[in-house]
Amino acid sequence: VRAEIAGLKPYVPGLSIAEIQEKYGLAQVIKLASNENPLGTPPLAVAAVRRHAEGAFRYPQGGNPRLAAALGRRHQVDPAQIVVGNGSDEILDLLIRVLAVPGRDNLVCCRPCFSIYPIQGQICGVEARRQPLREDFSFDFDGMLNLVDQHTRLMFVTTPDNPSGYCPPRADVARLARELAARAPQCLLVVDEAYMDFAPDPAGASLLESGELPENAAFMRTFSKQYGLAGLRLGYGVLPRELADYLWRARLPFSVNILAEEAALAALEDSAFYAATQEAVHTGRDTLTVGLTALGCTVWSSAANFLMFRLPEGAPAAAVCFEELLRRGVIIRPLTSYGLPDLLRVSVGDARENRVFLNALDDVLTATH
Ligand code: PMP
Repeated sequence: VRAEIAGLKPYVPGLSIAEIQEKYGLAQVIKLASNENPLGTPPLAVAAVRRHAEGAFRYPQGGNPRLAAALGRRHQVDPAQIVVGNGSDEILDLLIRVLAVPGRDNLVCCRPCFSIYPIQGQICGVEARRQPLREDFSFDFDGMLNLVDQHTRLMFVTTPDNPSGYCPPRADVARLARELAARAPQCLLVVDEAYMDFAPDPAGASLLESGELPENAAFMRTFSKQYGLAGLRLGYGVLPRELADYLWRARLPFSVNILAEEAALAALEDSAFYAATQEAVHTGRDTLTVGLTALGCTVWSSAANFLMFRLPEGAPAAAVCFEELLRRGVIIRPLTSYGLPDLLRVSVGDARENRVFLNALDDVLTATH
């Protein structure tokens, strides 16, 4: 086994409902840990999966051209710029594998950041250079640029960011792309917009939404959040055309299965579900912010479908509180694996789930005082 793999700390996913039901003998468990859609699966996608189940014996069409065409229309780009994958995780991994030479090249990302970037880098033998976030969790783009050398092939920026929900204006990302191009023309800026649908003003925050695509940038999007298809695994990149072609060549031939493809095409058409999700996330984000603040927590302002928060002074440690919530049937996310052991992250749920979470947290804080 290669040394990089022997020393690998794998990605830590959120706990599942089934494991907590079993561990604590609970019938009812709610999960607000993985930033999934609070309203479930889009009805049109459910119908599409049912309709196409009998076609599951066939291989998918090579290159998923219908989906690439639909996404090209959605973003007003050439479909040849779209690469779809088994979650945006697959596209992130492909970018590293296609661009970086193992043992020589490096990537730049933040500390903390979505852990797939450094983990997939390590698996590929690519060093991750990490720039700490500022104290308020905003990005230090100058610090990131200072980490770049002639062997830096990728720079990752997550906007809105995970786990803080911070979202810079698109002009700042455009400036970063320009300065990166001037300093390191060989380096791709990967802008991970997994949560961009939830930003208060996506056009003001996203270069992709506004149609300003820098030549040295790639944009990552996913069907796991706004489009409610996390379990079917579907994400995509909008990339410079030539790079998209290389990714298609390197991608496993059928990583997007036919049910995921049909569900995604249907989800793109489900405008009622889209609007209901927007409403649920915007309202739920406010409800949770108000509720957590009333319990004495510090809550970071978030443009995503989750909130990062710190417990009030005198409260038990975040890890204890997380466990106590599990006992009460509520799964949220401790941020220990992000190197933030004092902080917690909760996904926006539906109205009932948000209420159950706030009541359970109130109970934990009262019981342990
Ligand atoms: N990027 C970020 C910032 C994420 O938080 C996630 C989901 N955990 C992903 C990408 C991966 O999404 P997908 O389900 O499409 O692989």
